[in-house]
Amino acid sequence: WAKADGKARWTLFDPERNAHRMTRQSLSSTLRQAVERGEFVLEYQPLVALSGGTLRGVEALVRWEHPQFGRLAPNRFIGLAEENGSIVQLGHWVLAESCRRARAWQKDHPDEPLFVSVNVAVRQVWDSDLVTDVAEILDETGLPPELLQLELTESAVMGSAGQPLQTLHALSEMGVRIAIDDFGTGYSNLAYLSRLPVAALKLDGSFVRGFRSQEHPNPADETIVVALVDLAHRLGLTVTAECVENAEQAERLRRIGCDTGQGWFYSRPVAAERISAMLGGH
Ligand code: C2E
Ligand code: MG
Ligand code: MG
Ligand code: MG
Repeated sequence: WAKADGKARWTLFDPERNAHRMTRQSLSSTLRQAVERGEFVLEYQPLVALSGGTLRGVEALVRWEHPQFGRLAPNRFIGLAEENGSIVQLGHWVLAESCRRARAWQKDHPDEPLFVSVNVAVRQVWDSDLVTDVAEILDETGLPPELLQLELTESAVMGSAGQPLQTLHALSEMGVRIAIDDFGTGYSNLAYLSRLPVAALKLDGSFVRGFRSQEHPNPADETIVVALVDLAHRLGLTVTAECVENAEQAERLRRIGCDTGQGWFYSRPVAAERISAMLGGH
């Protein structure tokens, strides 16, 4: 029909947008089965000590090996999974798989303790019994709780009262570390966060991107990071910088005293086998 109607109509009806909407619907309606069919895989991205360069931990990042569309990045489906609730099943699989892997690394390399950091959606805190799930998974896999970190966004913990707050405390008492992901993009303040059982901040990538460069001669972001890292440390929190893409950024962060860095400068997210090879001393 496109040919018959000519180019003007083609643009007017925007088939690309229509196709996009249909893809979204199709992805949304097949998410649950996809979890059962085992169509998801995890990649792991190193978190490296800025001073010394030791591999400290890895963040687990989910990808969907879609039978029709190929490998899909999380921004294509995590939002849909949160909307339709399938994030609870998906999130459970991610947690279990991450802990199995981390336990295998711990067994193979007992002298190089590596923690795994797992993203947890707001809905997992609300809609599932996260505390029981985590306890069961740690028990089944044998992973020590100190080797598990959970990444929550500011919106998941801000103003948290009642159930979510109890959940955070229970996880923390279990020995699991709570980190705030993409810190600095929301409205939370550190004074409030310091009263929650939070152990780490992950500074959003936009701060590092705003460091001094030809485009940004006045590095306001660098000044903010200096203050944030100082305050976080005084409050007993460790700080990871996201999106470290070059040596200069890594060096500035190291001088500022930021604890760990994560980004393409160190490694892209990679398959589990690549992490095993890195642990083997490479
Ligand atoms: P995030 O948790 O903030 O993860 C970091 C994202 O930044 C990842 O994107 C990673 O690939 C990307 N990244 C890492 N280093 C660099 C860098 O140097 N430069 C740039 N430009 N980007 C970098 P990815 O894997 O596409 O994941 C996107 C988001 O999807 C994650 O952001 C997280 O919010 C969400 N996500 C991923 N896996 C899961 C999961 O298992 N559960 C939940 N609930 N969300 C997940
Ligand atoms: Mg994250
Ligand atoms: Mg992040
Ligand atoms: Mg992010």
